[in-house]
Amino acid sequence: TQFSDLGLAEPVLRALTHEGYVTPTPIQAQAIPSLLEGKDLLGIAQTGTGKTAAFALPILDRLSKSEKRTSPRHCRVLVLAPTRELAAQIGESFRAYGRFTKITVAVVVGGVSPGPQIKAITPGVDILVATPGRLLDHVDSGKLKLDQVEVVVLDEADHMLDLGFLPPIRRVVKMLPKSRQNLFFSATMPTQIGQLAGDMLRNPIKVSV
Ligand code: AMP
Repeated sequence: TQFSDLGLAEPVLRALTHEGYVTPTPIQAQAIPSLLEGKDLLGIAQTGTGKTAAFALPILDRLSKSEKRTSPRHCRVLVLAPTRELAAQIGESFRAYGRFTKITVAVVVGGVSPGPQIKAITPGVDILVATPGRLLDHVDSGKLKLDQVEVVVLDEADHMLDLGFLPPIRRVVKMLPKSRQNLFFSATMPTQIGQLAGDMLRNPIKVSV
């Protein structure tokens, strides 16, 4: 399989050419076709397998085919990551693969001053990449609404558990619309993560690499 066989939108394919990507990694080849159909996903994968592009490419495809020009923009995609570093990397990946689209991305993480983040999210963004605590700060202060989220991605769920993020994640999930696409990634499946996945996912396709 090559990326050009997967049915991704033209600006997304162009970005892949720009990156020099030709062949999907195994998780990309297995996940992308089902994600393009809107299915939920349980991905058992470590970093380095290409999992970021596995979720970012179908998300960019979806948004590029259904642009919504509300003002302010609604947050349509929420990606939760356990650490600042991972959130920043995911944000960079969305920007790189979305470079030929008008899709907007913001990263919201703890440990830095909230001012610039508030400035970034006030006009609204299509895709928000966040760590759970700071995300809830912005929601609680009324700077951010999650009622229009269409796709939620939970990355490194087992790491989230280790860092004590399960209660904030469950709070966030309760704020999301019931009808949405759920993408869940974890390297391991401890009991509590299996339970969270069971609560969040609907008939997921399972990919293990
Ligand atoms: P990840 O597992 O998402 O952290 O990705 C690992 C690395 O592989 C990143 O540096 C990506 O830029 C790169 N990468 C992901 N998918 C591909 C691909 N299909 N071809 C070449 N490089 C890739």
